[in-house]
Amino acid sequence: MIVDRQGRQFRNLRISLTSACNYACTYCVPNGKRLIAAQDELSANAMARGVAYLIEAAGIERLRITGGEPLVSPKLESFMGQVGQMGLADISLTTNGQLLARKLPLLIDANIRRLNVSLDTLDPVAFRTIARGGDLVTVLDGMTQASAVGIKIKVNMVPLRGANLDQVMPMLDYCLERGYELRFIELMRMGHLASDSNGFVQQFVSLQQLLTLIGEQYEYLQADAPVDATAVRYQIPGKGFFGVIANESVPFCRTCSRLRLSSTGWLHGCLSSSNRHYVGDLLDKPRHEALPALQRLLVKALGDKQEVAFSGGATVMKIIGG
Ligand code: SAM
Repeated sequence: MIVDRQGRQFRNLRISLTSACNYACTYCVPNGKRLIAAQDELSANAMARGVAYLIEAAGIERLRITGGEPLVSPKLESFMGQVGQMGLADISLTTNGQLLARKLPLLIDANIRRLNVSLDTLDPVAFRTIARGGDLVTVLDGMTQASAVGIKIKVNMVPLRGANLDQVMPMLDYCLERGYELRFIELMRMGHLASDSNGFVQQFVSLQQLLTLIGEQYEYLQADAPVDATAVRYQIPGKGFFGVIANESVPFCRTCSRLRLSSTGWLHGCLSSSNRHYVGDLLDKPRHEALPALQRLLVKALGDKQEVAFSGGATVMKIIGG
């Protein structure tokens, strides 16, 4: 197993199945142009082989399928069919929910038990302004249908000053009423926001600001979370849970166990580092040739992790899957 001086290992793999997305969220894409799939994206078979090799080479236990938007990818069915056979402790998927109802039978067949749905507002006008694509009611309906068949739902919301701060409490109430766990994600200095300090500061909402807002209506207690969890978790007694992924306020680099594989075959050991390591060519090689080379690259990727705190990165979330 590959372990660094701080005792960190790669246990959680995030795969960006495609960089294509049917949204162009303001904080993710600067110019509003939706991203399309890269020409050199790996096939479903190569990506599945990548997962199998990374389970062996790095000790990956949990897989999250993300993007871009994973549900737009024609690779989804074949990829999920293959990784479902690999004995992983957990497979989950992050989606904007636009195609959720349509793809639900496929997700049920693949035995997906947990979904993260990204949703920044319940206001249809603000929704169009932030996501620059999609339809709010379609997303809500997708979540209702997924929940009705027993899939556990977490909702990811990025609070943004000037765009959806008034939605914090309506979103929390909506999620508490339905048994969805709301995860606020502090805005991250990724992509264009890495070089637009003013834009970042103007929009950023901190953990403390969120807790103050929520504390005006509810009493909450800090709740348990796994050691390598990225979210600080809270319980509102008698109502449910919410969490905050507080990259800025409570950095989690010291316990980060995440590894990312892009749709074009690059390994990223850290969101905050511009280093990346190409493994696309290794995925065509037989196991005995691929694994030693992969292990050498994994050592480098683990060395890319920050010691203490996330400091941002020029890479766009759509490329490496958030
Ligand atoms: N399309 C899928 C979705 O919408 O969930 C998966 C990819 S998306 C990049 C994954 C997550 O990253 C979303 O919850 C999105 O809100 C979040 N995200 C993207 N850019 C971000 C940023 N600069 N700061 C914080 N979260 C960001």
